[in-house]
Amino acid sequence: MTSYNLLLLPGDGIGPEVAAEVKKVADFLGTAGVARFETETDLVGGAAYDAHGKAISEDAMKLALAADAVLFGAVGGPKWAKVPYEHRPEAGLLRLRKDLQLFANLRPAVCYPALADASSLKREVVEGLDIMIVRELTGGVYFGEPKEIVTLENGEKRAVDTQVYTTHEIERITRVAFDLAKVRRKKVTSTEKHNVMRSGVLWKDVVTKVGAEEYADIELEHHLADACGMQLVRWPKQYDVILCDNLFGDMLSDVAAMLTGSLGMLPSASLGAPDEKTGKRKALYEPVHGSAPDIAGQGLANPIAMIGSFGMALRYSFGLGDAADMVDGAIADVLASGIRTRDIAAKGANAVGTKEMGDAIVAALKKRA
Ligand code: NAD
Repeated sequence: MTSYNLLLLPGDGIGPEVAAEVKKVADFLGTAGVARFETETDLVGGAAYDAHGKAISEDAMKLALAADAVLFGAVGGPKWAKVPYEHRPEAGLLRLRKDLQLFANLRPAVCYPALADASSLKREVVEGLDIMIVRELTGGVYFGEPKEIVTLENGEKRAVDTQVYTTHEIERITRVAFDLAKVRRKKVTSTEKHNVMRSGVLWKDVVTKVGAEEYADIELEHHLADACGMQLVRWPKQYDVILCDNLFGDMLSDVAAMLTGSLGMLPSASLGAPDEKTGKRKALYEPVHGSAPDIAGQGLANPIAMIGSFGMALRYSFGLGDAADMVDGAIADVLASGIRTRDIAAKGANAVGTKEMGDAIVAALKKRA
């Protein structure tokens, strides 16, 4: 049985609660003979600040760099509102993204039929939705220089952020999007604002070239990013893979997230470049939600986003697509059977806690295995 090395960084708030449920799923896959997961656990975020005075220790960083995949819970909370800026809990996540060079962020938006009524859109618009947003994560306007606020001679202030992309940065994220489309419904929609931004012109040119030269069998269309936002709430099922820069991806992935109902349902993956020798990518998997201080410690959190993130690790880091399908299928089975945590339950309906939801998913996995 192949063995994989998984680093668990549960973090703060509900992070440790939902991470415990992933451990159950990983242990089950081990006993079922699918693969063995050697898990190590370390601190990140506020928990790491309390223990080490920084949001991630050097030892934890070493483990992250050596792991086959990192599974991250969530960080932050009111307890750490006043820690120095460079040690705030989020600094741990930013350091991981930077040192692991995670340039590709994958956010699936899947609407399980059993949950279609939890969306703010009509059932027929979202039922069965399955799209993937691919967001460039390390370039663009969040990182471009100059990035400053200066005081002008007349006393007025002037703020500058710089949107900047190079050919290489666009090419590598484009390939991630096309490679995903290859094993999905073979369609990429690239978004930018070439009508008003020079970076949009380059983005569109490079995506078109990579598509034509390397992925002739994949359909490519271009949408202006604002129009894509509209289409996402009008008829999202027209999309398969949506490719975005860092800024537009930040917004469009949040819009797509809300199509599916609850924050507690949304997994994500962040991938680096393939290693030249092994072909393996550095990777971090995390739920989209935060540390939910309002429900932390009460056993109420929905663990599905975290378990779904582990499912993405099975698919994208370990090459265990069948096991990933099994985890996704077990989640769908549990939802179809009517089991709900409070965040996805109808008003007044019975809801189970974090552990019960984790147990129900493991039980559904057993049936499928
Ligand atoms: P949040 O995602 O933590 O919570 C928003 C709302 O959704 C809350 O009402 C919460 O109870 C609910 N919710 C979130 N996840 C849930 C789950 N799994 N099950 C059931 N309900 C769930 O966002 P927030 O309240 O804006 O932020 C709280 C803290 O988390 C802040 O410190 C913020 O900085 C941090 N945060 C961290 C990350 C991260 O670690 N990647 C992401 C977002 C926010």
